[in-house]
Amino acid sequence: MNHCAYCQGELKPFACFSSQLVVDVMLTPQLQSSLPDLRYGQCNRCGSLSAMDVRRDNDFDLLELYEQLPEDYWTGLETGHGDRFFTHLEQQLNPNQLPLQICDIGCGDGSFLKGLDSHWQKTGIEPGAQASQITRDPKIHWIQGTLATANLSPNSFDVLTYIDVTEHLLDPIAELTTSQQYLKPGGKLVIYTGNARSLFAQLAGANWAYLRCAGHIAVASQTALTQGLSQAGFINLQTWTQNHPSSPGLSKWLFEYAGSRLRRHWAVPLYQDHMLIIAQRPSEA
Ligand SMILES: [Zn+2]
Repeated sequence: MNHCAYCQGELKPFACFSSQLVVDVMLTPQLQSSLPDLRYGQCNRCGSLSAMDVRRDNDFDLLELYEQLPEDYWTGLETGHGDRFFTHLEQQLNPNQLPLQICDIGCGDGSFLKGLDSHWQKTGIEPGAQASQITRDPKIHWIQGTLATANLSPNSFDVLTYIDVTEHLLDPIAELTTSQQYLKPGGKLVIYTGNARSLFAQLAGANWAYLRCAGHIAVASQTALTQGLSQAGFINLQTWTQNHPSSPGLSKWLFEYAGSRLRRHWAVPLYQDHMLIIAQRPSEA
């Protein structure tokens, strides 16, 4: 896998660290034995970072790993300021509080959907078999699987969301292109993900903590996503730089950074290194 997951550009080696030194619930002993090192390459065209190891091999069953993830993969992921981020996003998407249809793809334990007001009609798709056990929210129509297996009807949703998901996909642009048919004309696609070319990601380089996650195989630049979405036919693209809900405030960030530097395999904690993109399916003439 020597090509960019977003634009097929060539990859130059960017980072490499032993999977034995990465703390990640997803890194089962089985995965660690087939993945001695996590390797990333940077695209010479769009600046995205793509895994250059077994995780993107065709015969490697990444989906099976997601299906079998234990409950603690999701619990404890977010902090209090996640709620504020989600509330703000909700207001942006549905300022008039209409009974809109929303589908959250890769919804994890459903924390985003659960936090939405009751006027939304909520669907969540998640491959992890144990994730729905955490949520148990009867107001969410829960589908275990992926966009490809969920059997959705075309033109169904006002909003589709990919929150912390596209970086886990083998072919994110193909997925987002396919997703468009499930939006109603004029419906909105929301992508929230790490930005490989954000200022903090660039300063952190190979030590960016975002890369110490075995599931992150396709870390986009803003260019990669906006060009891919435009080519897929989406319009009215808007992009914002964001803090991840799990990233600390600046003083706590400095404290965590200093603590990390004391370790041999230090990493730069997340800070202002995510992007929120909202794009629209064209309305029919
Ligand atoms: Zn690229």
